[in-house]
Amino acid sequence: MDSKPHPLHILFCPHLAHGHLIPTTDMARLFARQGVKATIVTTQLNAPFFSQIIERERKLGIEIDIHIIKFPSAEAGLPEGIENISSITSREMGLKFFKAVSLLQQPLEQILEECHPNCLVADAMFPWATEVARKLGIPRLVFNGTSYFALSVIDSLLRYEPWKNITSDYQPFEVPGIPGKIKMTKLQQPVELRESIVDDKMKVLMHQVLESEITSYGVLMNSFQELEPAYVEYYRNIVGRKTWHIGPLSLCNRNTEDISQRGNAASIDAVECLRWLDSKKHNSVFYICFGSVSWFSAAQLNEIAKGLEASGQDFIWVVRKVNNEDEEEWLPEGFEERLKGKGLIIRGWAPQVLILDHEAVGGFMTHCGWNSTLESITAGVPMVTWPLSNEQFYNEKLVTEILRVGIGVGAQEWSRWMEKRKFLVTKENIIKAVTQLMVGEEANDIRSRASALKLMAKRAVEEGGSSHSDLKALLDGLRLNSPGGEQ
Ligand code: UDP
Repeated sequence: MDSKPHPLHILFCPHLAHGHLIPTTDMARLFARQGVKATIVTTQLNAPFFSQIIERERKLGIEIDIHIIKFPSAEAGLPEGIENISSITSREMGLKFFKAVSLLQQPLEQILEECHPNCLVADAMFPWATEVARKLGIPRLVFNGTSYFALSVIDSLLRYEPWKNITSDYQPFEVPGIPGKIKMTKLQQPVELRESIVDDKMKVLMHQVLESEITSYGVLMNSFQELEPAYVEYYRNIVGRKTWHIGPLSLCNRNTEDISQRGNAASIDAVECLRWLDSKKHNSVFYICFGSVSWFSAAQLNEIAKGLEASGQDFIWVVRKVNNEDEEEWLPEGFEERLKGKGLIIRGWAPQVLILDHEAVGGFMTHCGWNSTLESITAGVPMVTWPLSNEQFYNEKLVTEILRVGIGVGAQEWSRWMEKRKFLVTKENIIKAVTQLMVGEEANDIRSRASALKLMAKRAVEEGGSSHSDLKALLDGLRLNSPGGEQ
């Protein structure tokens, strides 16, 4: 009798933030299309962000589903309804949220015991997952949703603390050991790194994350070989991590429906958005969006509005609704009437990849979150970089100095998300960077480098491409190591 071997069953456990849920959903779909049975574990309020996409995939006969676990809000002292980082409105709430996330360990252990998968892919923010998988005797892969470059910088900074003898926040120092001469300042570093805060919870978590990377089966990266070859090599051979790069993950979305609903329901009708873009010339529209959690003061939003208007460029500007303050206070008087037809403001969630992929879009002002950065690279769109937090200042260096497909707006200060920033990026800075990126000879050079990267990104995920080959090698290895899996 012909007995068909069981497919590999892999459990994907993303962090509860759009910047993690989005690439993990893409990754689970990518694996499932390679014959893996994929289960995404998440909470009740996070599932709707991607359940329709999963449903469409299932209708195509692909083995993928969602397993719901309860979010321990009450146990962590959080109000009901806060299950995603984008709903957090204070630092105190943020700390409780991370406490609740750490309590997911127990329900995850229970699912693993029930399902007996062959492998656990868990977000880097769940350092305890390595031990959970070890207890069950299965490999744990870490999903680290940033660039090799950023990970290499972080490793160097933690190892050498090059700012130790530097007193000024503004004095540049070199990042030791890594390829390229990368200079940074103390002010661009996370507070947790640059200040000796004893018992800082975030610092403790950062060390646990690194430790669990070392003891795991390996690290999955949303990147591709040709994008940052020197840092792939450095991270693998000098830092010594086993990694597989399988990106750009966004390229697994092939139809307009999947692309426009990626991550959340868009606050603008996709057809309306495309019609607006269709009416514009090639490379003439400037797109502005700062990811899923960043926010600005009314004064900073006002400065952006003035800068955009004075730059004379057509634009799509995504503004997140953060609280119930008078929403329009930040807009200069008569702004929308004056710029009708020239500028489009999306309040809420934009279909970002749909917009970036449109030929009318010629520039992107981004906070350098890794997903946005890679989506821009994949679409061949040059960037104005405005890092704010996390590892975004490192990604900015990759974009502006290594790849040279972007221009910095002049942001200087790393700030904790939710905390007020000291410095305002002025209207003049914004006009200068937008104009430099959109018009003139330098703009053309940047655009041609960006177009070359777009081609490389597409090739990487095709049959035989570097990311496709890494994915195949990973799955072959897992199959070989799984007693119940295919041989
Ligand atoms: N995103 C989107 N529409 C929005 C805001 C964000 O589609 O209005 C998506 C964006 O395409 C990216 C993700 O949300 O995939 C944000 O991830 P990133 O790493 O750029 O930033 P984060 O939100 O984690 O700071």
